[in-house]
Amino acid sequence: ARRSPVGQAHLLRLLSTTAPANEPPKTPLYINGEFIQSRTKDWIEVHNPATQEVVALVPQATPDELQEASRSAAHAFKTWRKTSVLSRQRMMFDYQALIRDHMDELARSIVTEQGKTFVDAKGDVLRGLQVVEAATSIPDLTMGQRLEVAKDMDTYSIREPLGVVAGICPFNFPAMIPLWMFPLAIACGNTTLIKPSERDPGATMILARLAAEAGIPAGVLNVVHGSVNTVNFLCDDPAVRAISFVGSDHAGKYIYDRGSANGKRVQANLGAKNHGVIMPDADRNHTLNQLAGAAFGAAGQRCMALSTAVFVGESREWQADLVERARALKVGQGFDADTDVGPVISPQALERIHGLIQSGVDEGAELLLDGRQVSIQGYERGNFLGPTILTKVRPEMRCYQEEIFGPVLVCLEVKTLDEALELINANRYGNGTAIFTRSGATARKFQQEVDAGQVGINVPIPVPLPMFSFTGSRGSFLGDLNFYGRSGVSFYTNIKTITSLWRAEDADHTTASVNMPTMH
Ligand code: NAD
Repeated sequence: ARRSPVGQAHLLRLLSTTAPANEPPKTPLYINGEFIQSRTKDWIEVHNPATQEVVALVPQATPDELQEASRSAAHAFKTWRKTSVLSRQRMMFDYQALIRDHMDELARSIVTEQGKTFVDAKGDVLRGLQVVEAATSIPDLTMGQRLEVAKDMDTYSIREPLGVVAGICPFNFPAMIPLWMFPLAIACGNTTLIKPSERDPGATMILARLAAEAGIPAGVLNVVHGSVNTVNFLCDDPAVRAISFVGSDHAGKYIYDRGSANGKRVQANLGAKNHGVIMPDADRNHTLNQLAGAAFGAAGQRCMALSTAVFVGESREWQADLVERARALKVGQGFDADTDVGPVISPQALERIHGLIQSGVDEGAELLLDGRQVSIQGYERGNFLGPTILTKVRPEMRCYQEEIFGPVLVCLEVKTLDEALELINANRYGNGTAIFTRSGATARKFQQEVDAGQVGINVPIPVPLPMFSFTGSRGSFLGDLNFYGRSGVSFYTNIKTITSLWRAEDADHTTASVNMPTMH
C-alpha cells in the first residue's frame, strides 16, 4: 500500500539510466524527484574492495547540475516547510518501514562497495534506521515553550526549519551516516542536498528511492555526487544554510572553515583514536572478547573502533590470550558467512596501513601478530589485512599518533589508572573510550576524569542510541551541536520567540512610554 505509483516511476527511471550488461552502471543524480544521468565526462570508479572489480561509476556532478539540485531544494522548501508536522511524522513512519523491508538489499550494496560482512552491513543499516524511528517523534522533539509573562502577555517559542541543508558523508557507514543526516533534517521541515562518499554511493541511492516511495516529495531530498568540487559548491552556495559532515580531519577542518566563513552552521565529526583501558580486576574473558571484536570488527574502519588498548598493571599478561582470539578471526570477503574481518576500502588505504605497522616496528614496538601476509583464495586481489597487534607502543610513535583505520590494535602498558587517564587526556582526539573493570569506584573515577565525549563501562563501542546524541569531543568534533537526538534537532532548527499582547477587553487609556519595557 505504501508503494505509490510515483515511487514505481522513479524506479523505472533509475533502471533506465543504468548501463549495458558489460559496463558498470552509472550512478544517477537524484534531483527534484528524478533519477537523472549526469552529463559529466568525469566519472569515478567504485571498486569492490574484495576483488577490485569496478561495480559502478559515480559522476563528478557539473556546476549546472549542482545549481539545479540547489534550486530544486530551495523551491521545495517553500511548500515543505508548510506541511503539517503530522504529515512529516507519517512519512517517517512509512520510511522506516520501507527501510526495514529493504534491509537485505541495502546490506548487499554495502558489502559489494564497502567490503564489510553482510551481518555487519545490516547493523550499519539498523543503526541508521533507528535514527529514522526516533525522527517519528518529531512533534514532541520540536515542541516549543509558552509562558504568560505579564497580564495578557504571552511569550512562546517555536522551532523553525533553516531551509536547505547539506550532508557530506564518509565511506565507512554508507547507510548509517546519511541516515544520521537527512531524515531528521527533513522531519524538522528542511530540504536537503546529500553527497554520499564517492567510494560507495549505492546505499544512498537505494535510500533515495525508498524516500520517494515513502512519499517524501520532489526536491525535499536531493543526492549529488562528486568530490572536492561538489564539496566546494555546498560550502559556498548561498542557499545552503547548514552542513553536516562526517569524515577525516583534513576534509572536516577544511569544510568547517569554508562553510563557517560563508556564515553557515557546520557540525563536523572527525577522526578518532579510541582507548580501551583494561584494569587487572576486569572480567578477563568478557574484556578480551569485547576488545578483539571492537578492534578488528568492520576491519577496524569504524570511527568508534577500539584501536588502542591500555593495559594497566598485571593485565599486561593478558596480551598473549588476546593474540589467540585475534588470530582465530577469519579474514575473507563479506558475503562469506564465516568471515569476521573483510577487506579495507582501497589498495591505497592498505598500503598506508602497512606503512604505519612498519613504522611501529621501526620505532621499537613489538609485532605480536602480523596480518600483512594474508591471502584469500579466489580473492587474491582484495585489500585484505589480517588482525595485527603491536605492543610496547609509546605515545611518541607514529602508529600511536595517527588514526590507522584498519584492523590494527596498538597496545600500551601503564602502571596505574591515573597514568591511563593522563595518556588518554593528552591524546588530541576525544571521540570515545572504554574501561573494563569490576569496580564501581574505578568506573566512576574514570567516567568523571576522562576527557572524551563517549564513555563505555564494560562496553567497548559506546555509540549512543538516537534518543541521545553522538557526542564526540575535542579533536574528534568541530561545531556546537552534535548529530541526532535533541542536539540534532537544535542543529536543524532555529528558535523563534514571540511575545504577544491580547487583552480580554479594550485597551484602557495608556500613554506612550519611552522606557525599556520591563513587564512588571
Ligand atoms: P574523507 O574525509 O576522505 O571523506 C569524507 C567526505 O569528504 C567524502 O564525501 C569526500 O568526498 C569528502 N572529501 C574528502 N577529501 C576532501 C577534500 N580534500 N576536500 C573536500 N572534501 C573532501 O573520509 P573517509 O575516508 O571517507 O572516512 C573515514 C574517516 O571518517 C575516518 O577518519 C573516520 O574516523 C571518520 N569518521 C568519523 C566518524 C565520527 O562520527 N566521528 C564517523 C565515521 C567516520
